[in-house]
Amino acid sequence: MTPEDFDRTHLWHPYTNVSKPGLMHRVRSTEGVRLVLQDGTELIDAMSSWWSAIHGYRHPNIIKAVKDQLDCMPHVMFGGLTHDPAIALGQKLLQITPPSTNRIFYSDSGSVAVEVAMKMAVQYHHALGNSAKIQFATIRSGYHGDTWKAMSVCDPVTGMHELFQGALSIQHFVERPPIRFGECWNDDPEQNGLAALRRVLEKHHDTLSALILEPIVQGAGGMYFYHPEYLNQARHLCDGFNLLLIFDEIATGFGRSGKMFATGHCTIEPDILCLGKALTGGTMSFAATIATEKVAESIGGGNPGVFMHGPTFMANPLACAAAAASLDLLATTPWQNNVANIEVQLKTELGPAQDLPNVADVRVLGAIGVIEMNHRVSAEQAHRYTRKLGVWLRPFGHNIYCMPPFVTSSDDLSQISAAMLHLAEVL
Ligand SMILES: *Cc1c(COP(=O)(O)O)cnc(C)c1O
Repeated sequence: MTPEDFDRTHLWHPYTNVSKPGLMHRVRSTEGVRLVLQDGTELIDAMSSWWSAIHGYRHPNIIKAVKDQLDCMPHVMFGGLTHDPAIALGQKLLQITPPSTNRIFYSDSGSVAVEVAMKMAVQYHHALGNSAKIQFATIRSGYHGDTWKAMSVCDPVTGMHELFQGALSIQHFVERPPIRFGECWNDDPEQNGLAALRRVLEKHHDTLSALILEPIVQGAGGMYFYHPEYLNQARHLCDGFNLLLIFDEIATGFGRSGKMFATGHCTIEPDILCLGKALTGGTMSFAATIATEKVAESIGGGNPGVFMHGPTFMANPLACAAAAASLDLLATTPWQNNVANIEVQLKTELGPAQDLPNVADVRVLGAIGVIEMNHRVSAEQAHRYTRKLGVWLRPFGHNIYCMPPFVTSSDDLSQISAAMLHLAEVL
């Protein structure tokens, strides 16, 4: 059996048919912004390995931090014990996260960070005597992960979990914010989506614990960018109806939208913030849920007093070391300029896609470029062109999109744009 045969026969891949897995590219190593395939073919990774490798691959500072940590303490349990990597990372995180969120819960992956946030919201209200507030409101075309509670707040159609409908907790969905990022704000609540949100909160606030959403950029549920004023006003609605506000910044965190956090486009702050993906610069799985003092103190003052969650690999020192090194890079590299340049170049180079017959929309924000088609495209189809294009892209739904590493050179970015335009013509 060749390694490829073994893979086809025995390994599951994400969102891939086990019987007909299609073409699978075998990666041997990574270098800078490139994937090196088994036969030596190099592909520019326009996906940053699902939006995480913001500094490119194997940055020497991150590699060194992880190796040093590996030599001294790869892991210990976090119950009753603490360690410098967890403390140092926490200190660095609090220098950049919204000031009011300052109680950090480390976990293993984005989906778990969302589960933790949702449990915190329920436990917060429980502690205050509102044990009926156990449901969630959210906006359509969101994506929050693949575990059960996270699935329940993903878009019921585009969120990839349609078939589980009957098995999921019932949550309350409102239309996605209709006014796009960069458009003029419209004060009419029927036009800007806030009337719809208000109606849901008015009707269900007795049972709603929180509003959860991805601020500004909706990722895997639709690659859609909306107006920050929606979030400013949603904050006030949440306060009025006694709901917490949870921002899932797992995709947007650490510079992707042009600000360190998408929250930075708003004038308000959330009660709970979820981070993941780029947290370790794409080195390993890690996440954090950061709550305000108010949330943490209420849970602490309630019954049973402790927050009921504790992953085995909580605050893994290797992951903390990688994350701290990645944050140091963000503090010392001109990522804002890099992201701004990527935005300008993508706008120029993807713009012409607008004139292609099957293209519905082209949009760019920060280091995110999207060509939305008027029909569904499959990653499978795209992967047949990958080698020829020299670029790694994995379209989904109606979208051909890129989220390149911030260190992508202008030449490499042009190649990414050209590959996206090519896919928009042939898919
Ligand atoms: C990827 C993602 C998640 C889930 O993170 P995993 O690490 O894949 O579990 C949750 N929310 C958003 C916004 C994401 O983009």
